[in-house]
Amino acid sequence: MMNELARRSLDAVWHPCTQMARAEQLPPLPIARGEGAWLYDFEGRRYFDANGSWWVNLFGHADRGLNEAIKRQLDTLPHVMLAGCTHEPAVRLAERLSARTGGALGHCFFGSDGASAVEIALKQSFHSWRNRGRGDKREFVCLKNGYHGETIGALAVTDVAIFRDAYDPLLMRAHIVESPDSRLGNEAQALAAMRALLAERHAQIAAVIVEPLVQGAAGMVMHAPSYLKALRELTREFGVHLIADEIAVGCGRTGTFFAWEQAGTEWPDFILLSKGITGGTLPLSLVLTTDEVYRAFWSEDVTRGFLHSHSYTGNALACAAANAVLDRFDAGQLEANVQQSALLAEAFAPLADDARIVKLRQRGMILAFDLKNPGERFAERFHLAARTHELLIRPIGATVYLMPPYLIDAATAAFLFKAVLATLDDVCPR
Ligand SMILES: *Cc1c(COP(=O)(O)O)cnc(C)c1O
Repeated sequence: MMNELARRSLDAVWHPCTQMARAEQLPPLPIARGEGAWLYDFEGRRYFDANGSWWVNLFGHADRGLNEAIKRQLDTLPHVMLAGCTHEPAVRLAERLSARTGGALGHCFFGSDGASAVEIALKQSFHSWRNRGRGDKREFVCLKNGYHGETIGALAVTDVAIFRDAYDPLLMRAHIVESPDSRLGNEAQALAAMRALLAERHAQIAAVIVEPLVQGAAGMVMHAPSYLKALRELTREFGVHLIADEIAVGCGRTGTFFAWEQAGTEWPDFILLSKGITGGTLPLSLVLTTDEVYRAFWSEDVTRGFLHSHSYTGNALACAAANAVLDRFDAGQLEANVQQSALLAEAFAPLADDARIVKLRQRGMILAFDLKNPGERFAERFHLAARTHELLIRPIGATVYLMPPYLIDAATAAFLFKAVLATLDDVCPR
């Protein structure tokens, strides 16, 4: 029997990433409220938000500190346009993010969602080349199974068939290159493929876009920092921009504030942030870039400027939330994350010997494994079974992953392991 709110939702709300005909059998779960890592339904049942509400939530739901920061801003200045005006939360946020790159990425452009940041970076890369007399550099390179969002430009550099295929006739052509996957040990091969493409096409290529360390939507596909270092060298050698899409992996998720820091090399030309930057409270995205890119737009000629905008660009409430997120990192969040990821690793270690799973892997606060024999509609069955164990989790294909809020202690880690194991026993009995 369908809950009344779910019924009204199916009648009035077109749900994202959902075949609505199937949603009749699998209606959305009505959530009444959130507190910490837990979501509560209207019957008083609770669910641990193991995927961090699509990777946005960092400190739990209804976090006191973030809420206070937003409320203060709400009573001061909720929003003002950022063309011709400016405000303290946006300026402070841009300055603080620049400082986190040692000033290397000192120019911050504001978008609203992750996909809008991807569009901005693609346009800025192309336009900066064009302003420097290189309008022929108009091609982009992305990695196999990479994901960068659903708008037409972002989808063109996305290689996930289920999201992309229907719109393929509308998309610009991007080069798709083998991606490194630590499960396959193919890093050298992936770099060789990238070198071959750049050697042949660099005169036409504006930028390479990658998800550093973890390709999220591909199914938490991980690679070593050494790939990023080599990729930075290749893009320098061939005069091509490098765009680091840290929309999912930024904000401490992989162990450092920016995943890129682990590459131990020069910064990329662009870093994109969204998702966790407001701790899961408000939509905001940012494109950080270099003096070199910025200078290419500097001119008396208006049309050489970056004439791009979104109505809510640099929204003051969202910037206030993001500043409150950065306060946590200034106060030692990364050290806490090191301990929390160790607790997760310890709790899930026994799973490595489970014959039903393969490739247990972890990078910071992302833990994943693959099912050997997932069977029909595994993700859906796992999701439904997990709910009966107080766990809200959505596998990607045959990959089960945790991307929890940064609220893991020994008891929570033990709970998560027990709930995942019980779900596994329901869905794939030994
Ligand atoms: C989620 C995501 C995006 C798109 O962000 P939206 O806010 O959903 O538009 C882009 N790139 C990566 C790596 C993502 O994980």
